[in-house]
Amino acid sequence: MNNTHTGQNPALIDPFGRRIEYVRLSLTDKCNLRCFYCMPKGHKDFEQPENWLTFDEIERVIKAFTKLGVARVRLTGGEPLVRKNVAELASRLTALPGLDDLSLSTNATLLNNQAQALKHAGISRINVSLDSLKAERFKQITGGDLQPVLDGLMAAKRAGFSPIKINVVAMKDINDDEFEDMVKFCLQHDFTLRFIETMPMGATGDDATNHYLDLQTVKQQLSQSFDLIPGVMPGGGPARYVQIKNTDLRIGFITPISQHFCESCNRVRLSTDGTLYLCLGQDDKVELRPLLRAGISDDELKNILIDAIGLKPEKHEFKEKPEQVVRLMSMTGG
Ligand code: SAM
Ligand code: SF4
Repeated sequence: MNNTHTGQNPALIDPFGRRIEYVRLSLTDKCNLRCFYCMPKGHKDFEQPENWLTFDEIERVIKAFTKLGVARVRLTGGEPLVRKNVAELASRLTALPGLDDLSLSTNATLLNNQAQALKHAGISRINVSLDSLKAERFKQITGGDLQPVLDGLMAAKRAGFSPIKINVVAMKDINDDEFEDMVKFCLQHDFTLRFIETMPMGATGDDATNHYLDLQTVKQQLSQSFDLIPGVMPGGGPARYVQIKNTDLRIGFITPISQHFCESCNRVRLSTDGTLYLCLGQDDKVELRPLLRAGISDDELKNILIDAIGLKPEKHEFKEKPEQVVRLMSMTGG
């Protein structure tokens, strides 16, 4: 294959005709919580700090991506806010020409102190994981305390983030009696609500699979209490939305298992150690860190990214081969 690309910067189009314009960037694989479906208890096998991409390296890779048409980046992890100086990195990224949208996925435990600075740095939209509004249950699911999360959410609201999306992993026998309460909570605070199906990720796969809930069931359950009408969410990604009649509340359903959305996938993931993963559920990857540290030129970096997109697989196989994936979500960047 000829892997040099000259002339005008091309867009990133994968072998299945999908345009890649979105990068999910993992700032750390560490987390201060231990959601049982994400990170096994006692998990300690974290990346060494010397292998983390530095802010300079991250900025360089994202700049190269923006020149190839990537307009959106989401900071994620692990828990991105356990890394120091995230607001500084955010300012550097939002200053890049072509980057229209920098967003953040967080568990919100550390948001209370950081919300203002992150908003000033140009992060506009945030997603917060919140699987239960009951303190004891929250602790069982995550190993942590609920109150800092609620404080973080209120700080985000005061700081003016919009939208604030609450991500609920819907789990049979864990939180399936709380979905109506979640709707009421989001109505009260003007949050967007999204339900996610559990995916079999790495060593936690069995736990996740045992509590799997098809989101069609959740929608049916909610339609008995609320008048649901079709809804849209600008830039809503893979979620399918409904709205509660006569309210602004949108409810999204992210169904990687029951109705996968691979045919419209527009994203790649850059992990903490600088590995570019082409799919959350497959192992196709390119290790950028050694190349960056070996001194490749900007043109070489551009060509490596273009060629990497050529490796993007057609789809994940969570349903067909739940045992296949060996990475934790926190490693790839959820
Ligand atoms: N720590 C941040 C948070 O919790 O939002 C960002 C990283 S977390 C890995 C990103 C999202 O992945 C969260 O919404 C979390 O609920 C989701 N997630 C993690 N493991 C999952 C699994 N096995 N199935 C479905 N969603 C999962
Ligand atoms: Fe941490 Fe987010 Fe994974 Fe929970 S889902 S353990 S908060 S990275």
